[in-house]
Amino acid sequence: MKALAWMGKNKVEMVDAPKPKIMEPRDVILKITGSTVCGSDLHLLHGTVVELQKGDILGHEFCGVVDEVGSEIKNLKKGQRVVASFQIACGDCYYCKQKLSSQCEKTNSNTLENAMYGGRTAGMFGYSHFTGGFAGGQAEYTRVPYGDVNLLPLPDDVPDEKGLYLSDVLATSWHAVVDTGVKKGDVVAIWGAGPIGQMAADFSLINGASRVIMIDQNWRLEYIQKKYPNIETIDFSALGKGESVTSKLKEMCNNRGPDVSIECAAGEYAKGWAHYFEILLGLETDTSEIVNEMITSTRNMGRCGITGVYVGFTNHFNIGSLMERGIRLIGNGQAPVHMYWESLLKMIQDEQIDPMKMVSHRVRLEDLDKVYYKFENKEDGMQKVFVET
Ligand code: NAD
Ligand code: ZN
Ligand code: ZN
Repeated sequence: MKALAWMGKNKVEMVDAPKPKIMEPRDVILKITGSTVCGSDLHLLHGTVVELQKGDILGHEFCGVVDEVGSEIKNLKKGQRVVASFQIACGDCYYCKQKLSSQCEKTNSNTLENAMYGGRTAGMFGYSHFTGGFAGGQAEYTRVPYGDVNLLPLPDDVPDEKGLYLSDVLATSWHAVVDTGVKKGDVVAIWGAGPIGQMAADFSLINGASRVIMIDQNWRLEYIQKKYPNIETIDFSALGKGESVTSKLKEMCNNRGPDVSIECAAGEYAKGWAHYFEILLGLETDTSEIVNEMITSTRNMGRCGITGVYVGFTNHFNIGSLMERGIRLIGNGQAPVHMYWESLLKMIQDEQIDPMKMVSHRVRLEDLDKVYYKFENKEDGMQKVFVET
């Protein structure tokens, strides 16, 4: 079968890989019909995620048709259309029983060391051996462990082009908003105007936010200004002398700052994955400027949530401002998809949200290696893509 594989730093390739087989009684083999590339995949491309091996099949956001089921799968049949969650949960453990599937104890390696240094969460599709080494869905087929839990049937009125984003983006951005506690009347500032930030902006407005201000740089903000005219923006790359994101936010929000700040950027701008070994050696790394910007910008007693991915220790963290001004800083964690995907599906059916707003291109699986490089450089205005398989 055709699949997109990581072949070394800055190199992905379309390869011919063996079709996966049922290995466990709760496995499902999925024939993929749609997938996408995520901002998180670029950390893999750049080799900043540890424990990648040449030939690893990537892709953690995908939907498809059930091709084969293991002997213990009772709720799904061959031919059924489904979407997969990006995390692999068992459905039975302490966390899964509370729908906190991203913390599944069966699929993660939940040691004290991991909690202190890496904080591994549940297994993930196509996201290195750091998250379990499960093959991903940028391929013609994939194996879905605990398929009875990690696949959600898609009704006929929800096409793949919309249902696909229940895998990750919708649950992640909804969780960011709910978990950080956006409520009616709040002014919300969002760092990072990628798909996660865009949907977090939409969800903030749905939750009653009075204003949303997005912080990013020009190429991303042009898209936002076109697609979301009611959202205000700050271009961090075009600040004048003596200006900062914090000074701009204060100026725009009665000199107090936003009620809620949400970090949807992070990635390689944070001292994270790339510094894994430094972290293991107990060396501290520097704080992301975004986290300190959030702390200093948010109004006293306001809330900040971190959804962009970080790993490890930091110094130069503005704990003084955090403590004195009563800032509540929340690690949103990997989003527990299973907690939200049914209600998000209903929101799509009711046309309360339109995930296609963030999709700029439709591409074919066989072109995916080239698409990765275009996506990396945002050539042709490429944002979120739908990969037809
Ligand atoms: P993306 O790469 O498409 O967008 C990130 C945006 O952040 C870019 O537009 C970039 O210009 C912007 N940015 C970079 N530095 C910035 C700064 N200093 N200030 C403001 N903006 C800045 O990524 P995405 O797919 O939207 O994902 C966003 C983040 O969320 C990534 O870190 C991703 O790994 C993470 N993520 C987390 C979860 C979760 O469950 N917690 C799930 C999916 C993705
Ligand atoms: Zn993703
Ligand atoms: Zn579990």
